[in-house]
Amino acid sequence: MGAGRLITWSPSVTLVPSRGCFNHCGYCSFRVPLDQARPLELSQALELLQRRPEAREVLLLSGEVAPASPERPEWLRRLLALSRLALAQGRLPHTNAGPLALAEMAALARLNPSMGLMLEGLGPAYGPLHRQAPSKRLGVRLGQLEQAGRLGLPFTTGLLLGVGESQADRRRGLECLAALQRRWGHLQEVILQPWRPDGEQGRPLDAQERRDLLATIALARRLLPPEVHLQMPPNLWPLAALPEALEAGIDDLGGIDSADVINPAYPQPSPQQLAALLEPQGWRLRPRLCVHRRWWPWLPPALQRRVQRLAHQLEGACASAADHAC
Ligand code: SF4
Repeated sequence: MGAGRLITWSPSVTLVPSRGCFNHCGYCSFRVPLDQARPLELSQALELLQRRPEAREVLLLSGEVAPASPERPEWLRRLLALSRLALAQGRLPHTNAGPLALAEMAALARLNPSMGLMLEGLGPAYGPLHRQAPSKRLGVRLGQLEQAGRLGLPFTTGLLLGVGESQADRRRGLECLAALQRRWGHLQEVILQPWRPDGEQGRPLDAQERRDLLATIALARRLLPPEVHLQMPPNLWPLAALPEALEAGIDDLGGIDSADVINPAYPQPSPQQLAALLEPQGWRLRPRLCVHRRWWPWLPPALQRRVQRLAHQLEGACASAADHAC
């Protein structure tokens, strides 16, 4: 029984500035080669935002351009323009676009109340998968998480789980994140993301995979400071069994859009489905913004005012909605 524990989620819409990516991760079904990428135009982005009026978070999820590429300045300009568009539409951008130079991250941080970058994972299983992905080197990822901490930027990170890593590898990854949090305090969420095959090979987690992940969730809850939310994408866990992940320590379901652009074979449950499952079992499901309340004081004043206004709207929408998931 959930004993009234609060489970949060973020009404979200995902925009993909570009699927073009200079990395070539062994598990990726998202990327296209840079020379075949079609960047998202602002007019297309506006249309997508207008189709999801209830989404407060705009997740900008982009393929990466190499740090020294002549295409990088234009790629960054697009991320900044899309962030401004999100704000102009009364939403909050949350950018996850790979490693950023200090000046790039600082420029985006003026517009994004929170940003994200997965640590991905540690251990030999990731070696072959990241052989052609220079930005996935552990030192690069840890350096980015440090940089975000130095900038005081509320941050989302996480581990990709189930590519062949051991429980000891998972523990080391979680210990790295715990140490970062003790140093900087900026990690608002850690996503425990099960790797899933996509397309026709898509299949739900089996019982053994779930048991392993439950042990990892419980370990994460023990190792990470209590203010760090543990997130599980609800479409990657069998819906009827979701309460067992919550019992183990998950307390956030992340951004929920109408579809998952990374794992399109796994449909998103609707907030109403989640509420119908969880609330009779004693869980309280509530929408949130992309930045959790504890980190609002970290934001520049202009972003703080926006966040407070949007939170007020979200609470008003909940109060007048028939179901608590809004
Ligand atoms: S960095 Fe991301 S988009 Fe690029 S290949 Fe790796 S997983 Fe795919």
